[in-house]
Amino acid sequence: MRENDNLKVLFVSVEVAPFAKTGGLADVAGSLPKSLVSMGHDVRIAMPRFQQINTDMKYITDFPVIINNRKETCIVREGEIGFKHDNEDKSVPVYFLDNYHLYDRENIYCYLDDADRFAFLCKAALEMLPKIGFQPDIIHCNDWHTGPLCMLLNEKYKEYPFYKNMKTIFTIHNLEYQGNFSKDVIGLFNVGEDVFIPEKVEFYGTFSFMKAGLVYSDIINTVSETYVKEIQTPQYGEKLEGLLKKRSKDLYGIVNGIDYDVFNPKEDPRIVKNYDVNSIELKKENKFALQKEMGLPVKDMPMIGLISRLSSQKGLNLLMDEIDEIMKNDIQFVLLGAGDEYYETGFKKFREKYPKKMGVYTGFNAPLAQRIYAASDLFLMPSRFEPCGLGQLFSLRYGTIPIVRSTGGLADTVFDVENDSKNGNGFTYTEFSSKDMLKTINRALKFYQTKPSEWKELVKRAMNIDNSWDKSAIKYLELYNKLIKKKR
Ligand code: ADP
Repeated sequence: MRENDNLKVLFVSVEVAPFAKTGGLADVAGSLPKSLVSMGHDVRIAMPRFQQINTDMKYITDFPVIINNRKETCIVREGEIGFKHDNEDKSVPVYFLDNYHLYDRENIYCYLDDADRFAFLCKAALEMLPKIGFQPDIIHCNDWHTGPLCMLLNEKYKEYPFYKNMKTIFTIHNLEYQGNFSKDVIGLFNVGEDVFIPEKVEFYGTFSFMKAGLVYSDIINTVSETYVKEIQTPQYGEKLEGLLKKRSKDLYGIVNGIDYDVFNPKEDPRIVKNYDVNSIELKKENKFALQKEMGLPVKDMPMIGLISRLSSQKGLNLLMDEIDEIMKNDIQFVLLGAGDEYYETGFKKFREKYPKKMGVYTGFNAPLAQRIYAASDLFLMPSRFEPCGLGQLFSLRYGTIPIVRSTGGLADTVFDVENDSKNGNGFTYTEFSSKDMLKTINRALKFYQTKPSEWKELVKRAMNIDNSWDKSAIKYLELYNKLIKKKR
């Protein structure tokens, strides 16, 4: 394979927007392949066919997959993500791997047999390839669910000529979720017991899907340059920092982009009033509409938005500590989130306490998320850690100014306007502390209220920033080319 030849890539992910999403992984898996296809490469996606997926698809083939000495059938159906590039119709083929018993369920995760469900994905994705006649140069695995695919390829499949030259890249979207199971899950893979050693997949007495990806992939990358450095330290390494340091020569960071066609305030059909950098005054109409929708008083006052998985990663405990203080300001706060019961009930209680100032929606609601990005003036991300973070990129695109704790991708994409009045695009703080968060929120509100013309400039600058996939997809291509030349 020569450099710059058209590459063949199989992209394997459990979440892919618009088909199945709980967080940023879906956004990346649904948009990076589009950019690579636009650049002329043959990139195809494989994912489970969950109950919620009802897009157009056609039957391709079926075959048995042995899981725990039991035969499960994998039915492969093909759909696509269609898009326009330079006015031409393009598409990314998507192979939906269907198994009624494992995937015909309401949710994507959190079942007792998740090890079986994602072992099936890894095996089926590999077994499918000769049957559909697709021989990729690269298999691009994403997060813990796909870690064992790298192990299977190296421990078993490379014996066969069809798989011999395939290379793997494993992208860490979040190191905290590792898929650590009891030792007996080895039985799912029909590999020798000798993989269960600390140099391979054993992780403190468990079989770790994440570790399988980190040990067996040819190249590892994660979704920002700062997170690459952070995960090699005990504070962020989730006990895998030693292994990551050992593999530091094969470890890269590429910041995510977002899909500028889908997330475009000028054309987004999900928002009430479209606007662009030349008609920023129309953005307000979205605020008024959201106020009505959420039962808040309709008036022009600063609105802070927050859209997040409700998990301890997101620094929401700091927010709860300071909500009474934040509410002393003349503002409205709108929160959309799903996840831990503790936060869902906690925020609903705050909604009752501040009915005229707080809007809270618990659950997953993608169109509402768009309306909040468009309506808010400020967007809060007080994260404990953040591999990349996409919320700040969507809000910048919609002229909504982020307030973030500088960590991971937030540190790489948001710069404090009071440190750099020419290039700044948000408000940042460093310590994971509720006092610093509060100070920064108050600083941002003061800026909004006292410097209207600078604020307008700030919003314009935010909307003009290019966080599309263009730059990052080129970096992925460079990495793919490096990978192809790499000997292991
Ligand atoms: P993470 O991947 O850790 O969840 P990111 O900031 O990378 O965080 O991505 C979160 C994505 O999920 C964004 O697209 C955000 O808009 C979306 N999102 C999060 N929670 C919800 C929700 N409750 N409803 C709709 N979209 C949500």
